[in-house]
Amino acid sequence: MSTPAQKMVAEQLRPHGVTDERVLQAMASVPREEFLAPRMRRHAYEDRALAIECGQTISQPLVVALMAQAAAPQPIDIALEVGTGSGYAAAVLSRLCRRVITIEREPALAEHAAETLRRLGFDNVVVAVGDGSLGWAAEAPYDVILVAAAARGVPQPLLDQLADGGRLVIPVAISADAPQDLRIYTRHGDQVPYRSLFPVLFVPLRPG
Ligand code: SAH
Repeated sequence: MSTPAQKMVAEQLRPHGVTDERVLQAMASVPREEFLAPRMRRHAYEDRALAIECGQTISQPLVVALMAQAAAPQPIDIALEVGTGSGYAAAVLSRLCRRVITIEREPALAEHAAETLRRLGFDNVVVAVGDGSLGWAAEAPYDVILVAAAARGVPQPLLDQLADGGRLVIPVAISADAPQDLRIYTRHGDQVPYRSLFPVLFVPLRPG
């Protein structure tokens, strides 16, 4: 018997370009329904973003998996996530890295996500409240940074907090009425070139 998350991996992720076995295993091991309100749980394994509190969304599983795969997290890595939301992507990331710091600007969301992560035993994740566009200098530099909200440009503090060889995956808003460009920036010494991955639709990264 397979679990709903294992079925999601087989039917929605493997056929759509997710090939990294560690990422697939992480996706199969995180119960997405636990990150949703009771009335939304029956939709947990549909491959789409879903509403959470504060007018925000839990990301689409395929996008979470492809972002993680692009960032190629290693078991010794320390990762930063901007935009905790429900805590789902942080939970996935926590299975792939040594330690995860995730920042959320809405205190109610941060509190709820922290409680869910604690209850499910994701004890290598720290949820911080604040403006993620400033990064989280206290534990920098990061091997992996994932941004789950769309910015107009890449916030400089995030580039500054990227370790040498580190990977930053971020949706960049190109214009108001077009999808965002999901990009991966990789630091090589002083150079941080990027490559475009695919178009995405994220909620905006809001200041403050
Ligand atoms: N990764 C989440 C999805 C997050 S949606 C999940 O798996 O559920 C994007 C989140 O970014 C929202 O919760 C929003 O409140 C938050 N956000 C927006 N601007 C932010 C900022 N400047 N700093 C931190 N979080 C921010």
